[in-house]
Amino acid sequence: MKVGSYYSTNDSDPDVYHNHDDCPTGQQIPLANRASGTNGYRLCEQCAKK
Ligand SMILES: [Zn+2]
Repeated sequence: MKVGSYYSTNDSDPDVYHNHDDCPTGQQIPLANRASGTNGYRLCEQCAKK
């Protein structure tokens, strides 16, 4: 399902944002590291395919 943009604040994660809550990469982001918005990142490839 499409959701508001979010990204990981963890520096070791790729500089991408997500906009689907069923994205396999996005689902691996712990809630503590999950922030709203795009942070100027590009869209995750897996989210782009959905
Ligand atoms: Zn994604």
